[in-house]
Amino acid sequence: ERVDNPYVGATPYVNEQWSAQAAADGGEAIADQPTFVWMDRRAAIGGAAGKWGLERHLDEALAQGADLFEVVIYNLPGRDCAALASNGELEPEQLDVYKEEYINPIADILGDPKYADLRIVALIEPDSLPNMVTNAGGTDGSTDACIEMKELGNYEKGVGYALNTLGDIPNVYNYVDAAHHGWLGWDTNMAPAVDEFALAATSEGATVGDVHGFIVNTANYGALDEPHYDVTDSVGGTTVRNTDWVDWNQYVDQLSFAQGLRDLLVSRGGFDPGIGMLIDTSRNGWGGPDRPTGPGPETSANAYVDGSRIDGRIHPGNWCNQSGAGLGERPVTAPEPGIDAYVWAKPPGESDGSSEEIDNDEGKGFDRMCDPTYEGNARNGNNPSGALGDAPVAGHWFSAQFRELVANAYPPV
Ligand code: BGC
Repeated sequence: ERVDNPYVGATPYVNEQWSAQAAADGGEAIADQPTFVWMDRRAAIGGAAGKWGLERHLDEALAQGADLFEVVIYNLPGRDCAALASNGELEPEQLDVYKEEYINPIADILGDPKYADLRIVALIEPDSLPNMVTNAGGTDGSTDACIEMKELGNYEKGVGYALNTLGDIPNVYNYVDAAHHGWLGWDTNMAPAVDEFALAATSEGATVGDVHGFIVNTANYGALDEPHYDVTDSVGGTTVRNTDWVDWNQYVDQLSFAQGLRDLLVSRGGFDPGIGMLIDTSRNGWGGPDRPTGPGPETSANAYVDGSRIDGRIHPGNWCNQSGAGLGERPVTAPEPGIDAYVWAKPPGESDGSSEEIDNDEGKGFDRMCDPTYEGNARNGNNPSGALGDAPVAGHWFSAQFRELVANAYPPV
């Protein structure tokens, strides 16, 4: 019997490997926070490159006396079709390899009776379905790789298979990745996204009942709540929606987006009215000396928004190792209506991608959105990347970024 919100009354597992790294790099004060374990390729299941495998983590969870375990399922065929930093190891047509050599072995481990008392939160495939909504339609931001994935249908089938297979394990709670407000917040993206989630959730034998909830802001930097302005504000008769930063979005922060999306998933998507949302608050604190302390000047709508917003990015489409970011809210259970938890899905300190090409055997490419000198593309309005320099390959420890995240944490550490 699954409970409504797996986080209620639960003690989440603290990844001791992440914890040790955080503590050694000036993060003692937050080293006891729970973070997700990423299964980012087949080799990660057994453990690779010094990182523990899935069973080792689960055994450590039992040893800790934890009763909740958080894992990211992230290895779709043709993964990360609109970016190169986490391209992945499987070719677009390798759906069978995904099922047999990735999902099935993970399901075998998670289904082991010795883990039956752990509530296992499975975050299903960051960025994949959102890419099918906005980057596969031949519009400005589209990529050939996403168009190919849409034609093959292997993201939907892969997600469906993962939901169905993991959903058969009674103590697994599936949360599907739903990007963030700066990606799906426009009406014209949100409704198609809900339809896409419903399609995937009814593929390969899955049903909407296999979905316990959704997560937003995974590994992203969008502010949880913009305290100094609201999407309904206007300045001198101009709505803040009509500004460079907001660009007609219906949302300006993650909490309002998560709650709005939840309603639409139920009313339009046919998902269970009991679904709950998670928000990744690992790196969206935006504290430090540059954080605005009140609303901006009302000289123009643009000046007002730019002076008010705590999200310090150059453009909301920027996603790689953002300069100036800080740790966000510490993980907490049931903070707001409709929200099961704020979580740290992206382990702070792990790189989003290398700032120049670095050879590796993990299927990681080089995306210029991680290069501080890059001037952008259609998906970030042709703005500079805002990325920190000297970054290692995605998933590797990035000490300088971690130190900045701690220094700019909000709430401060
Ligand atoms: C990387 C993964 C890594 C994860 C968490 C992703 O961007 O591709 O290898 O495990 O981030 O840091």
